[in-house]
Amino acid sequence: MDANTLQTIANQRRADAVTMIHRANTGHTGGAMSSLDILTTLYYDVLSVRPEEPLWPERDRFLLSKGHSVEGYLAVLADRGFFAKAELATYSMAGSRLIGHPNNQTPGVELCTGALGHGLPVGVGMAIAAKRTQRAYRTFVLMGDGEQAEGSVWEAAMAAANYRLDNLYAIIDRNGLQISGTTEEVMELEGFAAKWQAFGWDVTELDGNDPAALQQYFHTPRPEGKPHCVIAHTVKGKGLPFAENRKEWHHKVPTAEQLQAAYAALGVKGVQWA
Ligand SMILES: [Mg+2]
Repeated sequence: MDANTLQTIANQRRADAVTMIHRANTGHTGGAMSSLDILTTLYYDVLSVRPEEPLWPERDRFLLSKGHSVEGYLAVLADRGFFAKAELATYSMAGSRLIGHPNNQTPGVELCTGALGHGLPVGVGMAIAAKRTQRAYRTFVLMGDGEQAEGSVWEAAMAAANYRLDNLYAIIDRNGLQISGTTEEVMELEGFAAKWQAFGWDVTELDGNDPAALQQYFHTPRPEGKPHCVIAHTVKGKGLPFAENRKEWHHKVPTAEQLQAAYAALGVKGVQWA
């Protein structure tokens, strides 16, 4: 798929996500927007998955460790056909399986996440299982940069290098912000790439809001014998002029006027399912 098409799809999914958040009057706008080019490139161009057979044994595994960014993830899964798009209208409503964090009762969701620092350790287990059962599937874990303060991330990083898990990708949505401020104010990360390299990983930095850069990375063979870390530089709130790079938009909800401003900025007329 060409990169311009991926960009258009990512913006349509942004419109889905911001609509879900507005309707439910709850959600995590900033991180959903920053991660949507990564999610779109993976699900429309990289991952080997079968929406009609979500538990196909050979599927690539994807874990949204930054589970609070669930709205973009659900919008992508619905549009790819894992479940009906009309179900997005139930997001965060009583009785819905589309709750405020990923729930593995939802087709396509591998793991209940949201408590940070859990995705990479589970991903290490999935990658070890692939090696031991001689399966070719790959495991992808998307984490937040604020999440890097969790000690379990670094235990998993050490184990992944120890077991030479070259079938494992850790992608970090490096938007520079977390709930209460910049990452450098709250828990300093830099020199971030050098830390992952010191843990034995193959590390690449790229523009995580550029589908072309993401495509080029994931379609190029990586070194064998090491797990792969992608530091994906992004903008929190990407695509929404009123939310970009503003920490309060970690979980602020758009008004009706802001929803219309979002559609205009994203170049979409609205959504079909709401
Ligand atoms: Mg962040």
